[in-house]
Formats: sequence, structure tokens, C-alpha cells
Amino acid sequence: MQFSNPRADVFVPDATRAPAAALLGVTHLCIGAHQDDIEIMAQSGISDCLGNPKRAFGGVVVTNGAGSPRAGAYASFSDERMLEVRREEQREAARLGRYAIQIQLAHPSADVKRPGHAGVARDLSEIFSGCAPEVVYLHNPADKHDTHVAVLQRCLEAIRSLPAGRRPARVLGCEVWRDLDWLPDADKVALDSGRDPELALKLLAIFDSQISGGKRYDLAAVGRRKANATFHTSHSTDSLSGITWAVDLTPVTRDGGPTLAEFTSALVARLGADVALRIKNFG
Ligand SMILES: [Zn+2]
Repeated sequence: MQFSNPRADVFVPDATRAPAAALLGVTHLCIGAHQDDIEIMAQSGISDCLGNPKRAFGGVVVTNGAGSPRAGAYASFSDERMLEVRREEQREAARLGRYAIQIQLAHPSADVKRPGHAGVARDLSEIFSGCAPEVVYLHNPADKHDTHVAVLQRCLEAIRSLPAGRRPARVLGCEVWRDLDWLPDADKVALDSGRDPELALKLLAIFDSQISGGKRYDLAAVGRRKANATFHTSHSTDSLSGITWAVDLTPVTRDGGPTLAEFTSALVARLGADVALRIKNFG
């Protein structure tokens, strides 16, 4: 398995397995922009695969994680050293979460933001061609982090370039840098991220280089899951102890489906109509 950036890292926690075989068995695939995005987005998929021999979780981080803010013990780290720290943190998450494979493509963020960038396209195409996941977890199109939206678009380009019969059955866009609580309920997909709470917290806390400076992504992500579960319905008790909201992007991956812009504009329009209708009803 050879990726375009010489710094790309392929890690298979079970050292007895070849990378291609590990990727082939992946049933739940998450592709995120940065180290730690997978653990914020796809705890539900990680839990789905734990202890189930018929399922396997695969993680892909597209960028190299350069340029992240650093503080505390990491304040004096060079870019180079920070990249190594982040790579190792992601490997540790893969070990702890028992992922089948963890790929870090190590692309500069600027390359990912270029539509059709040859190296990014080739790498994502190789990954999607090398497995047949039931579900793919991606960033959501209303995320406010530029690199997240760019990674989503590169992934959708790669999926659409596959023959129709080889495209993933289900493609979900998950919340990270903008919650998806605003989606009208009919457009929401509830991912059960309340299972394995101790593991979930540990997986988030592994990314010490991101949280030790005072950004407690670990506590925030777990708190958001709890808040989502509680504020989902006002008249019933919580059936799940944690929810990560997602939107079903599968229509965008199908021939003749909406473009990402059309799809997302329609979601925002439905929110607007929902808000306006409630105000009108009681005015
Ligand atoms: Zn990110």
C-alpha cells in the first residue's frame, strides 16, 4: 500500500495482518481531516465494531496536522516534532479503539483544498477501491472549518468516481466544528455514541497535544453527546445516553443526485421554513 506523500503512515494494530487485508475487511470507515476528528465523529462506529468479529473499523486522517495551536508542554515544539506527536497520538487511538487499520495520508491542508488535487485524489481512490464499507463517516457540509469541508469534498469526488456498484451503501456527514442539532428532525441521523463511555473518553483524551493547552475537546465532545441525547425530544426520557448527529449524504454520492451545494442549501431552507412556521402558528 503506497500513498503519494512520503510521510504517509499506515498502521495496522494487529501486526500479523497485512495492510491490504486489514483495509479490505473494513465495514465502518471514517475519513477525517485531522488527528482526533475520527474520535469526535465516529465513536458510534467504533462501538459498533468492538468485539464483533464480522465488523472492522478503519480510520483515515487526510492532513498532516501541521499548524495546530500549541501550548503548555508543547509550546516550544517545532512543526516537525508536533507532526510526530500527533501521528503517534492517532496510532495510540487506533490501538486502544481496536481499529483494523489507521491510515494518515499527511497531506498539507492547502493541497486538500484544491479540487481534484492529483495526490489526494489518487490516495482516496486507492482507499475506497481497497474496501467495501457498509457505512462511511465523513465531515458534514455545514461544518465551519474550511479543511473539514474540503476533505469532505475530496472524499465525495473519490466516491463518485467509483463505478456505481462499488460505492458505499451509506455515507454520513458528522458534526465536529458545528453541531447538527439545527437540522430538522426528519433530516437527522442519530448515531449512538453513548456506549463504551470510558473508552470514548480515553480515546478523546489521547490527543493530549490538542487539549493540554486548555481546549478540552474530550470533555466538550462527551458533553455534546449527552446534550444531544437530552435535548432531542422534550416529552420522552432519553433512550440513548449519547448522540452524535449526522446527515445522510448518500444521495449526493448517487448518479443524478443533488450536488453538495444543492443538498446543503435545501437543508438550510428546511430549517428556515420550520422556524418561520412555528412563529407563524403562534403569532
Ligand atoms: Zn479537524
